[in-house]
Amino acid sequence: MIRAVLSVAFRQNMMAMKPAGRGAPLMLFHIETGGCGGCGMELRALASAPYDLGGAGFGLANTPAGADMLLVSGPLTRMMAPVLQAAWEAMPDPKGIICMGDCALDGGVFGENYATLGGLERRVTIDLRLPGCPPTPTDVLAGLASLLRGDVQDDLPPA
Ligand code: SF4
Repeated sequence: MIRAVLSVAFRQNMMAMKPAGRGAPLMLFHIETGGCGGCGMELRALASAPYDLGGAGFGLANTPAGADMLLVSGPLTRMMAPVLQAAWEAMPDPKGIICMGDCALDGGVFGENYATLGGLERRVTIDLRLPGCPPTPTDVLAGLASLLRGDVQDDLPPA
């Protein structure tokens, strides 16, 4: 069911995203769908000095309704799947999805089992993949910058 909801052509919506440095920042809503919390800690570090997330053209939204991009970290636990779906549905169009960390991509060290569905890689079209366990704040910032430049990640699997 979550695949059906999230399998929208995010990529074509990216052209409508706001460019950095002009007007409002591109707002990210972070949701941790499981995992060890390491990716979330790196993201919180990125939102603090000496990094300049705001200066790079991004902000962290408090609610999905105020977000342009859903930033997912951690494996998709069965418990969090409906929460992720609800967050996605609450976001206005155009919108996209970012997977931060190996767990969000393919389940990472948690894999797929009675408690988790693995990662989002085989379930949805991902606009930005940020591999690593965890990716560093610098990695994340570089990835976000490439997103605003419109760089295409050639290794995307089919949706
Ligand atoms: S990718 Fe690594 S750091 Fe991030 S949630 Fe998974 S185990 Fe933790």
